[in-house]
This record gives sequence, C-alpha cells and structure tokens, in this order.
Amino acid sequence: ELADRAEARRSVEMDLHRAVENSELQLYFQPQVSTKTGEIVGCETLIRWNHPTRGLIGPGSFIQHAEDSGIITRLGNWALREALSQARRLPKHMHIAVNISPLQIHSASLVSTIINALATNGIDPGRLELEITESVLMTDTEFTLDRLNQLKQIGLKISLDDFGTGFSSLSYLRRFPFDRLKIDKSFVQKLPDDVGSASIVRAIAQLGSSLSMKITAEGIETDSQLSFIKEHGCDEVQGFLTGRPIALADFLVLTGHQAENVEA
Ligand code: C2E
Ligand code: CA
Ligand code: CA
Repeated sequence: ELADRAEARRSVEMDLHRAVENSELQLYFQPQVSTKTGEIVGCETLIRWNHPTRGLIGPGSFIQHAEDSGIITRLGNWALREALSQARRLPKHMHIAVNISPLQIHSASLVSTIINALATNGIDPGRLELEITESVLMTDTEFTLDRLNQLKQIGLKISLDDFGTGFSSLSYLRRFPFDRLKIDKSFVQKLPDDVGSASIVRAIAQLGSSLSMKITAEGIETDSQLSFIKEHGCDEVQGFLTGRPIALADFLVLTGHQAENVEA
C-alpha cells in the first residue's frame, strides 16, 4: 500500500512538473469590491489547471499534493511571475492578491522572484498583496516573522487569509502588522441569521479597525450577507455575488479595460 501511495504521488508530481513546463496552469481573477463605492478595487489570483485529459481542475485537488511533494515552490513562483506580468494590463489603482503557501515562505527564491517580477513588469510593490494563512505562522514562527518583515520592507502588503478558522491566536496580530484580515467564508455564509457568526464577524471587523488593518469579507453570496457586511465596517467584499473567479480577458472586460485580444 505504501508503495502504491508513493507511486501515485510520484505520478501527480510528474504530472505537475509537466503542467508547469507545458503552460497548462492558468490564473483566474476574482474581483475584490469596495463596500463604500461598489467598485472593483483589486483581485485575488486563483490557480487553475487545464489538464489535457481531465479538463479544468481547481486548486482543491492539487495544491496539497504540490505542497507535500515540494513542487509548490515552483508552482508558486510561476503564479507570482504570472500574476505580476498580467498586472500590467490591469488598471493601475487595483491591488493584486497572490496566495502564498507555507513551504513557499521558507523558499530561498521567494524574495528574489518577487523583486525581479515587480521590476520586470514595472509594478508598484504597494499593489501586491501576499495572502498567507495562520498555518504559515505556526511552524518556525521567528523565521516566518523575519521573512514577512523583509517582504514588507520591499513595500508590499501582507494579508491574513481565512481568519477565524485556525488558532486565530491574537498574539500573531500583536507581533506582526498585517495590512489586511480576510474573514473566512464559513462565518460569512451563515450571516445574517446565525447569531454566533454575526458576533464573530462584528468582533473581527472592530478588531481590524482598531489595529488599523483593512477587513475583507470572503464568500459573499447573497444580498443580505452584503448588507450585514456593509453595516459592520468591512472595507471590501469578495464572493460569488460580486463576481466569480474568471479568466483575465473576462476580468478586463468586467473592469472596463478591454484585453488586447478582445479589442483585436
Ligand atoms: P482561498 O485563498 O481561501 O481562495 C478563495 C476560494 O473561495 C477560492 O476557491 C474561490 O473560488 C472561493 N470562493 C470565492 N467566493 C466564493 C463564494 O462566494 N462562495 C464559495 N462557496 N466560494 C467562494 P478556489 O479557487 O477553489 O481556491 C481554493 C484554495 O486554493 C484557495 O483558497 C487557496 O488556499 C488555494 N489556492 C488557489 N490559488 C493558489 C495559488 O496560486 N497558490 C497557492 N499556494 N494556493 C492557491
Ligand atoms: Ca486567499
Ligand atoms: Ca480565504
């Protein structure tokens, strides 16, 4: 059984290496919308795999494999370079959020990949937001905090993703000045009726604002969720209601900036 599992992992690993080499990976863009103006102020890039036989695959079925086998570093560097290259075509006021996995934070190539990609594409570092989860902070905390500080010195922003689902240790918030907290969709989706989720969302919004962090609510699917979020001081929303993850060409249409190939 062990041999079978090792073989299965090796096969996914080889498949993923091929995916990077054959440009089978693609970034989708999900709008992040200001609760004040209703305008798209940024996007999160979400990886997809155009598999030659299995069709379009979401990250849920391969990111963990990539993390376990270490390929995530290669895949993550690709995602960063791709996101920053595509960012040239986005309106200049928009921020671009990229997910960073735990292993990537430890990778020696992370900082140089970011610096090079920002410079190559002439992107203001302040537009790039790295989204990390608490699991990143739980191992090797000192190293990780140093690395995050190093990244902040370059000028980019750091967001704490899926907030409320992990240990949500408040000491992390004290020890590192996150620029943004993203309230996990599991709370948002029970709004407005579930009293517990409503209290948690309110509390996170207050916490964020008193620590001068921006707050994004994720997973907004209904108008009543949106109204609740607007009332309770969240800065931005991201969810199927305000826009699903879509390919770049579609995202450019949505933002009113036609893609070159759409214009042609
Ligand atoms: P995440 O960072 O929490 O990303 C948000 C996920 O929620 C996305 O799933 C998105 O499609 C989904 N979502 C957004 N709005 C709604 C909504 O209103 N309702 C519901 N039910 N879902 C919504 P996706 O694209 O399948 O990504 C899953 C996870 O894979 C991400 O969770 C992230 O942890 C990881 N991931 C995606 N792209 C990358 C990447 O480039 N690098 C790394 N390391 N991880 C990535
Ligand atoms: Ca994220
Ligand atoms: Ca999230």
